[in-house]
Amino acid sequence: MRSQDETALGNDRPRKRMEFTDHRARRVAFVSSCILNQNTRAPANADQKAAATDVVTQLLENDVGIEQFPCPECVLWGGLARPKLYDQQPRALRAFGTWRFPIVKLFSRTWMFITGLRARRLINASMRRMDDFVAEGYEVVGVVGVDASPTCGVSESLDLIEVVAQLENVDVTPEAMAKPDFDDMGRLTLASTIKKPGYFMGGIARGLRKRNLNIPMAGVHPWKDAKAEARRISEALGLTQGS
Ligand code: SF4
Repeated sequence: MRSQDETALGNDRPRKRMEFTDHRARRVAFVSSCILNQNTRAPANADQKAAATDVVTQLLENDVGIEQFPCPECVLWGGLARPKLYDQQPRALRAFGTWRFPIVKLFSRTWMFITGLRARRLINASMRRMDDFVAEGYEVVGVVGVDASPTCGVSESLDLIEVVAQLENVDVTPEAMAKPDFDDMGRLTLASTIKKPGYFMGGIARGLRKRNLNIPMAGVHPWKDAKAEARRISEALGLTQGS
């Protein structure tokens, strides 16, 4: 039987906590990479210059340290510019409305499924990182993702196929997609989201359930008011300080 100052890692190996005193509050939140660094956002998707400042400020004002997940799209889709995703886009745009579109759709769904499988390594590594904090007695106050992302969406995510189908409805030309801008992407994204987590945050949610950890999750939406979003995140995580 474990003593009170022993706890378990994800692999159930007993660990004795080191005793020490310093100034840390022992509170931490896990956040998507781009919350701290907007430069990792997909092209034409960054809503802030450097970071999701309001969310970050709320966390810091509540003495919550910030642990950054890796950016799965940068890792799995070939870097900041996501060439593995965007190289497919012209083919999907050309095929839309033709007999080839169902085939392209099937190919894209399969590709996303494989992406989800490849993401498992990142999800497992992130959960092991969280296990370490939990095992050392830190309070993990929450997980903050990015809603409307196909990857880090928490309550809603982007359906990448639907984006192609929605172009005409939101008045974005296929040519404009070769050089997208933030407002066009916003209209497209809002029209193409589904009530389902992204493949990375869905995996994190499963990891939490598997460990029986009751840690709140919330996603900040890049195309909604930043201050209102920060307040919503704050409430979801049960934070008290800040506006
Ligand atoms: S939402 Fe996730 S995948 Fe998208 S840029 Fe942010 S960290 Fe990367």
